[in-house]
Parts: sequence; structure tokens; C-alpha cells
Amino acid sequence: MPAIYKRILLKLSGEALMGDANYGIDRMVVERIVVEIAGILELGVEVAIVVGGGNIFRGMKSAGDGMDRVTADYMGMLATTMNALALHDAMKRGGVVSRVQSALRIDQVVEPYIRGKALRYLEERKVVVFAAGTGNPFFTTDTAAALRGMEMSANIVLKATKVDGIYTSDPLTNPDAQRFQKLTFDEAIGKNLQVMDATALTLCRDQKLPINVFSIFKTGALKRVVMGEDEGTLVVA
Ligand code: UDP
Repeated sequence: MPAIYKRILLKLSGEALMGDANYGIDRMVVERIVVEIAGILELGVEVAIVVGGGNIFRGMKSAGDGMDRVTADYMGMLATTMNALALHDAMKRGGVVSRVQSALRIDQVVEPYIRGKALRYLEERKVVVFAAGTGNPFFTTDTAAALRGMEMSANIVLKATKVDGIYTSDPLTNPDAQRFQKLTFDEAIGKNLQVMDATALTLCRDQKLPINVFSIFKTGALKRVVMGEDEGTLVVA
């Protein structure tokens, strides 16, 4: 069966890369994610990734502790670049060809974000990892995922989390929590479900770019999502 999406934007939070630890990058976890990505490349799916940085640095938290917010956000964006490099390295070891593009210029390390070039890489079946979020303070990598998803004309944003979808309440603390199979953007925004920040949800809603929230830790879940199977929660306009 072919995949139902030709091109996807995968949002990997920093949390997804740290596994059970409280900080940093878990090499084994990253390698497992690479295997999942390789599985959908085999189906002919074009893969763009926006990676978060919360496993290393979160601007808002440090600003709350007294740091200048803009400086803290730049540090957060640099953290996403470290994750992008780790992912790139793991993909290389796993036989997956990828390129990293950064929204902030650090040319000796990674190339700058150039839309046309990124599109060409995707057409060449290379994975493109977008680092440094939107390049602007006060934004998040969720918003970067929505933005790059639109710029890349992705068919869907796949938001990889630890939980396999959106639930009526936190399934880790409430055993009666029910998973939503499908939601509209207005429902997701209205219920304040904390699945993605409101800016990202609004952007996706306005551009009619669907989002599927799923667990990256569930083996084969990424593949099932791109095959259009009932996996996680689909958010649509
Ligand atoms: N960040 C930013 N602008 C962006 C994206 C990210 O300033 O466009 C900063 C912000 O400080 C944020 C940090 O980078 O806290 C890490 O990104 P995020 O919290 O979205 O990562 P995730 O939660 O996905 O790991």
C-alpha cells in the first residue's frame, strides 16, 4: 500500500531526543528515531524535520529566572542546532542522507535556510533538518514546524510526542482519559489542549495544513500515520 502523504514535516521536540533522561541527547533513542524515519523513506515519502531544543535549553524558563528573554531565546535556538547536528550524524550512521539548514547563520557548521535548496533536497529524497526554529525570539519550534511545513508545501505536520495522540486529559495521570481520533483546529484551540502552541495551530488552520499527533516511541507508528491508519490524533480544518 502506498503512503497517503507525499511530503511530511516531522516535528521532533527536544524531549523526544532525551528518552528517559532529564537532559541532553540519548544516542540510542536518536538511533531508534532514525530507523523509523528510514522506514517511511522506503515508502517514497519526502521528509523534512523541525527539531526542538527543550532537552538542552528553553528560553522562556531562563527568562523567568531573570535572563534577558531575547538572549535566552537565541540560546534556545542554538540548542535546536545541536540537536539537528546529532540527528544528522545519526542519520549518516544509519545510511540516511540528510542536510541541515539553519534559520540563524552559522555557515561553518551548517548551511543557511534557503527554501529553493531545501525543496530540491526533498525532491532528491534527502531528509532536510531545519535548525534554529524560525530564527526569531518569542517563537517556538512548533511554530517553525507550521511555517516550514507551509513553505515546503508538506501535506501534513506530524508532531512526535511521548504520548500517542491528544487525550481528554493527561493519560499518564488519569486512566479514564480518552484519545481523540480526530479534532478540528477550532476544537483543539478551544479546548486549550496544550498539544501545540496557539500560533502554530492558527497558522495550520488558516493554511489548511493538517497535523497528526503521535508517539515517536511506538514502533511503526510513524509508518502507520503516513499510510493513513488510525494512529494518534488527526487535527484538521
Ligand atoms: N526558540 C526561539 N524561536 C524559535 C524557536 C525556538 O526563540 O523560532 C527558542 C525558545 O527559547 C525555545 C527554544 O528555542 O524555548 C527551544 O525550542 P522549543 O521550546 O520549541 O523546543 P521543544 O519544546 O520542541 O523541545
